[in-house]
Amino acid sequence: MNRGKEQFQCPVCNYEGPFADVNNFGGFRKHARCPQCGALERHRLQHWVLMQLFETTNTSGLKILHFAPEPFFTSILSNRFAAYETADLCMKNVTHKVDIQNLPFGDRTYDFVFASHVLEHIPNDRKAISEIRRILKPDGIAILPVPIVCEKTVEYPEANPNEGYHVRAPGLDYFQRYQGCFDRVEVQSSHSLPERHQPFIYEDRSIWPSRACPLRPPMPGERHLDFVPVCYA
Ligand SMILES: [Zn+2]
Repeated sequence: MNRGKEQFQCPVCNYEGPFADVNNFGGFRKHARCPQCGALERHRLQHWVLMQLFETTNTSGLKILHFAPEPFFTSILSNRFAAYETADLCMKNVTHKVDIQNLPFGDRTYDFVFASHVLEHIPNDRKAISEIRRILKPDGIAILPVPIVCEKTVEYPEANPNEGYHVRAPGLDYFQRYQGCFDRVEVQSSHSLPERHQPFIYEDRSIWPSRACPLRPPMPGERHLDFVPVCYA
């Protein structure tokens, strides 16, 4: 049964077996999706980071703002927090239709902010980061992962429709932009998780720059790290 295929365990749904490959605008990715719950590499890592946080933080009285809410995390977060609100500029069915670069909320409104794969779409991301910091209460936490696809961040002159309208290629230096705003930034990586959960990104980045991604620099290696920065106000 499944002989020859690598076996993994999903930390979200406890499925055991091979993970499915995916093929999207970024190209082919091996061992990406849990066939039972649909968790992708980033979901498995982010879920693990959230569960670690929930072990030490009682969230039942806290208020969370979830930007660009991915269905994967909506019930996980709404079940955990006393108040669960969502925000996006374009999505329907969000609590707040707002621009992350200019939020209409008062200072110190939320205990928790979750914005996964959002800031790589935002032209003035530094303003967005400072807005997130501003609306957090003292001791608040923001989880702000972006896809890290190269060594050094590359800003694009315009959004690239072939990359889901990313306005930059975030590099390993990207999370430095959080450090000026927050008291402390702890970055978890794919190495934080047991390898049986498969939190790595298997992607051929030697094909960049490509016609679809003309400004992404090439990156050697078959297996890349994913990251989850946890920012403390
Ligand atoms: Zn699963």
